[in-house]
Amino acid sequence: MSDTQPPPGLDQALRERLGDDGVVTEPARLAPYMAERRGLYTGQGRLVVRPADTDGVAAAVRLCRDHGAAVVAQSGNTGTVGGGSPRHAGEVVISLERLQRIRRLDAEEGLLVAEAGCTLAELQAAAERAGRFLPLSLASEAECRIGGNLATNAGGLNALRYGNARAQALGLEVVLADGRIWRDLQGLRKDNSGYDLRDLFIGAGGELGIITAATLRLLPPPRSRRVALLALPALGPALPLVRAAQAESGDAVVAAELMSAEAVAMGQLLDDTPANPLPGSPWYLLLELATSDPRAELDEALSAALAPAQEAGQLDDARLAPTEAAAARLWRLRTAIPDGQKRAGASIKHDIAVLPSDIAAFVPRALAAVQAVDPDVQPCVFGHVGDGNLHLNLTQPAGADAEAFLAQRAVYNRAVHDEVHRFAGSVAAEHGVGQLKRDEVGSYADPLGLELMQHIKQALDPEGLLNPGKGPAAAGPRPADRDRGDDTSC
Ligand SMILES: Cc1cc2nc3c(=O)[nH]c(=O)nc-3n(C[C@H](O)[C@H](O)[C@H](O)COP(=O)(O)OP(=O)(O)OC[C@H]3O[C@@H](n4cnc5c(N)ncnc54)[C@H](O)[C@@H]3O)c2cc1C
Repeated sequence: MSDTQPPPGLDQALRERLGDDGVVTEPARLAPYMAERRGLYTGQGRLVVRPADTDGVAAAVRLCRDHGAAVVAQSGNTGTVGGGSPRHAGEVVISLERLQRIRRLDAEEGLLVAEAGCTLAELQAAAERAGRFLPLSLASEAECRIGGNLATNAGGLNALRYGNARAQALGLEVVLADGRIWRDLQGLRKDNSGYDLRDLFIGAGGELGIITAATLRLLPPPRSRRVALLALPALGPALPLVRAAQAESGDAVVAAELMSAEAVAMGQLLDDTPANPLPGSPWYLLLELATSDPRAELDEALSAALAPAQEAGQLDDARLAPTEAAAARLWRLRTAIPDGQKRAGASIKHDIAVLPSDIAAFVPRALAAVQAVDPDVQPCVFGHVGDGNLHLNLTQPAGADAEAFLAQRAVYNRAVHDEVHRFAGSVAAEHGVGQLKRDEVGSYADPLGLELMQHIKQALDPEGLLNPGKGPAAAGPRPADRDRGDDTSC
């Protein structure tokens, strides 16, 4: 494999098979495939292929293999860990963006068979037109594509109630490293006739195979919905309130988003963010309840869940959205945070998970650890508290030098991730491993688990052609100072 350029003759061979429309080499047209969302990586590839169907993907993989070129799958290119960025000029990006067909939508069976390049928003809309509901939902849903969603096992806003992308997948079609096509799209809800191959490819970041299509489960659509913003005097009441709302509503809580006051304030840096209707509290919880029961009494459920907390002084105030427009405004407080944080300066982000019931103990410890590095660092904490998954992000101290702050990334990672490890948590909760988390995962993961993953990688991609140098199988050995056994104290 050449690191410096695509192998000679490969460009021409790909053009002969895929047509000129299927091959991109001009620098201006390459640029969007090489740009990475957070600006942390610049893709080095000089060749992007855009097959129009699964056979084209398989042919491209075979040609790359025959010429000794590695391949990097890319769908919507919204990933945040550098997984879709080619690390070397000799790597070929295989874009799934032209695989756009919905092959089957069966409302009765609750099945949707879609190709990898369909955007998540298109699939949500197709399900809705058929009177069904595809529950996966991310702030990036207009751009991300279902192949990428499955490759990252995306979580998102509704995972608390409906599970991650994996939970929506009933089948896959995958192009293997040798160009063969594995098809398992029947959509069976029960099949114990062997090892679960589908689950190997989901969440594997394109390191074990290229997903070209998937069978997704569809649900009855929600018919009752309520959104509420709760202002909390402290972090502690957040999870008990989520659990009370779950209990009172018959498990209708589909989203439970925690936001620190600092995170809400960063969202306000955008022009279109509405004012915070409940200012002055240190923490906020955005709850969405939804159910397919049109007679559900969600207002009553919320009141019953909130009343004891209010009496106990664990709830400063609450705002229930009376209309869909008001609900959208409350949601905007949450969805504005990532872009607002960008406005506030350079950032270092941590996508972590601990047990939900450990959140209240974990967050102050992690924040104390980062403030020990620099007391002026600005934490921006938000995320999916019901799943125990937080984005414990840091913004540079006001007026500080951005480069000097970013140069401390490893120190801040250590501060946060050591605390995550103490709580037996995950340092790569929903965005995946890619390049960004590869060494962090290597530092903390169970060595036997990593060894098993390396065996799986070797079995499915013996020549190391799929997304080389990324993911858990490429992680280095765990440093001795990290080898603390099962320290789950505190
Ligand atoms: C504003 C914003 C909000 C976001 N919110 C969330 C969130 O709430 N939850 C969440 O989980 N993520 C979130 N993300 C991250 C991102 O959107 C998800 O990881 C998404 O699932 C990536 O899909 P994609 O199509 O863009 O994949 P890409 O970025 O194209 O690829 C991601 C990874 O998957 C591999 N890959 C891509 N396509 C395939 C394929 N067909 N077969 C095999 N491998 C493939 C790539 O090589 C890469 O490693 C957010 C991102 C943004 C920008």
